[in-house]
Amino acid sequence: MGILGDIAPLFKKRELALVEVYQEFDDIYTFIFKKEQNLSWKAGQHGVFTILHKKINKPTRPFTLASAPSENIVKISMRIGENPSEFKKAMLELEQGMKISMRGPIGPLYINDDHPSLLVAGGIGITPFRAMLKEAEHHPNRTAPLELLYISRGENFLYKDELAEIAKTTSIQVNFLNAREDLYQGIDEFITMHKHNGRFYVAGEKTMVDSVATYLKNKNIAKSQIKKDVFIGYK
Ligand SMILES: Cc1cc2nc3c(=O)[nH]c(=O)nc-3n(C[C@H](O)[C@H](O)[C@H](O)COP(=O)(O)OP(=O)(O)OC[C@H]3O[C@@H](n4cnc5c(N)ncnc54)[C@H](O)[C@@H]3O)c2cc1C
Repeated sequence: MGILGDIAPLFKKRELALVEVYQEFDDIYTFIFKKEQNLSWKAGQHGVFTILHKKINKPTRPFTLASAPSENIVKISMRIGENPSEFKKAMLELEQGMKISMRGPIGPLYINDDHPSLLVAGGIGITPFRAMLKEAEHHPNRTAPLELLYISRGENFLYKDELAEIAKTTSIQVNFLNAREDLYQGIDEFITMHKHNGRFYVAGEKTMVDSVATYLKNKNIAKSQIKKDVFIGYK
């Protein structure tokens, strides 16, 4: 698809009705919206969401679709802390059937070849990788190795049970990590096995994405082998 094909979905605005919202743990909430039949995306892409039910400052934010298209729902998860932005306050007001608008989905963070792929998630940056792993689980025609390194603070990992189940029933490797050293060790091992052939996908807050990208660069991984999504707005 050319660049125009890639951004064309951005011009299409649709309204999605809320099915349910739930707190995963701590400050993490998941919102499930109804998926229209003609809506599709590549697992890992994000939509641009706008609050409709009230007037607020800055009513628009990008969020990754954490569901695979084959799941037939639109799932997004986000951190909503103690002092939420107007946008996130408005998200928590959504009730079943209320609508939000979405442009897209768009973005380059999706798997488009059958090369060995390493997915590196920091915290909430797991959202695109849940979609990719669900997609790989439902369409097991992939032959190249697929591995997730998921680093998070504390004991809670978003979608942990689902991801562990995928690892059990497929050849996909899933690693839940707390320490930076373990993350870099996992990256080193993957590079040793697949260096010139590997693809690297990185998502999370800026400091984490930047440091992993720099690490890869210092290991002589070409820019063309790396795709990243920086979740702007988190520090
Ligand atoms: C491609 C993409 C995918 C994303 N997917 C997810 C997701 O799945 N889940 C999720 O929780 N979040 C995701 N985000 C981040 C999300 O869009 C929000 O920015 C984030 O949730 C913070 O929103 P907020 O309303 O809490 O804070 P905000 O009010 O948006 O901002 C918090 C702080 O960040 C600063 N800030 C905001 N925007 C910018 C900017 N453009 N440049 C520099 N500083 C800025 C603000 O000034 C403020 O200090 C994604 C972002 C991108 C770009």
